[in-house]
Amino acid sequence: MSAYKNVIVAIDLTEEAPQVLDKARAMSDAHGANLTLVHVVEPVGYAYGGDIPMDLTELQDQLDKAAREQLAIYGDKYGVDKANQIVTVGRPESEIHRLAQEQAADLVIVGSHGRKGFQLLLGSTANGVLHGTECDVLAIRIR
Ligand code: AMP
Repeated sequence: MSAYKNVIVAIDLTEEAPQVLDKARAMSDAHGANLTLVHVVEPVGYAYGGDIPMDLTELQDQLDKAAREQLAIYGDKYGVDKANQIVTVGRPESEIHRLAQEQAADLVIVGSHGRKGFQLLLGSTANGVLHGTECDVLAIRIR
């Protein structure tokens, strides 16, 4: 197997993120690959169905800022410099597809909860990323 050169790890900034980051760092180091951290901030308008007659720009900016700060903390901890920390706004699956192409990634790493039954029907980000990403996708089982 040829070595991966350009790895993207998508993280949701929950307390589970380090489980995914630990493996992504180890995998990238083993391959001598470049590692990029990605977090997608979901548009606040989505959560309210666009029904609230309110300017949500400030709230969106705050979420964006908090995400950048958290990503910077992980960047320090996992040795990923600023240029490889990406925060973007949109639907996680679509943004991850777009960034994988834009960054010419050869591996995308995501966490997976291994849902069963009804939860499985609802789908998961890992599944959405797998269907639509052209390069390899590695799902890290979250414990
Ligand atoms: P979920 O299916 O939402 O439980 O998420 C599983 C995995 O998808 C997480 O461990 C992340 O790798 C990725 N993910 C979910 N939400 C986001 C997000 N907003 N930005 C980047 N990655 C995400």
